[in-house]
Amino acid sequence: MVDIQITYQCNNNCLSCIIPEKAYCKEKVEKDDVIRLLDDENPEIIAIGGGEPSIDPDFFDILRFAAEKNPEAVIKILSNGRYFFYEESVKKLLKVIKGNDNKFEVHISIYGTEKVHEKITRSKNSFKQTLKGIKNLLDSGIEVNLRIIVNRQNYRNLNELSDMIVEDLDNINKIIFIFSRYMGKAQKNIEEVSVKYDESVEYVQEAIDILQKGFKGVIRLYHFPTCVLDPEYRSLVHGMTKESGGVTFLDICSECIFKNDCSGIWESYIERFGDKEFEPLNP
Ligand code: SF4
Repeated sequence: MVDIQITYQCNNNCLSCIIPEKAYCKEKVEKDDVIRLLDDENPEIIAIGGGEPSIDPDFFDILRFAAEKNPEAVIKILSNGRYFFYEESVKKLLKVIKGNDNKFEVHISIYGTEKVHEKITRSKNSFKQTLKGIKNLLDSGIEVNLRIIVNRQNYRNLNELSDMIVEDLDNINKIIFIFSRYMGKAQKNIEEVSVKYDESVEYVQEAIDILQKGFKGVIRLYHFPTCVLDPEYRSLVHGMTKESGGVTFLDICSECIFKNDCSGIWESYIERFGDKEFEPLNP
């Protein structure tokens, strides 16, 4: 898998973003480096993210180049979806998709219903644009997956978000709950963002219960160590956002039957809350 950040700029300013505040962050990604990366490797999956990749002037050129160079690769666009509020943007994306054989997926971050979403994005009208962006993509037959970053600001709102998805967005392909990593802006805003698994997991499980009654797509949990979940939710633990970067296991994990399937624990979580919640699962 190749994971490329094509820009650090964004039209949201999310509390829980792992990219640092602009002042501390490299302003520009060199396009030659992006092109070289796509040229050198022969990946099965290419994830194109940022910042917000769709606001980069080279977005469609990079997308086209990635697809033409790697016709077998699955191309994932990691976006906040606001750009797809504009039907013209969806048409441009469709043109790239139709001109190539690759499988394309758009992964959109949504945090909650309107008030909660915008408390996290700190950007007025971001919810309205994201929601319309999702609907525009779905109406054009483009595969959309939702990424819900779980943090202190949204865990109590997840059931309402699930209700909204069931009612309004039931042709989404996949919903991924991702437990927040405290890095970049999320580290700076750690008091507002951080929440313990002990406190938040039952709300995540309730949100899943709602989805499982009305949503036909796939549900996944990223960065939820298996031992913090009730048994019936453990099979949803599947995959990570990045291949094990920033993740650790404890000495006790060697006694656990889930060691090979578990996503491990964010190092930044242990620094914040310690390791008392985790215990090996045995037959
Ligand atoms: S004990 Fe370790 S390996 Fe087992 S589920 Fe918990 S964190 Fe994962």
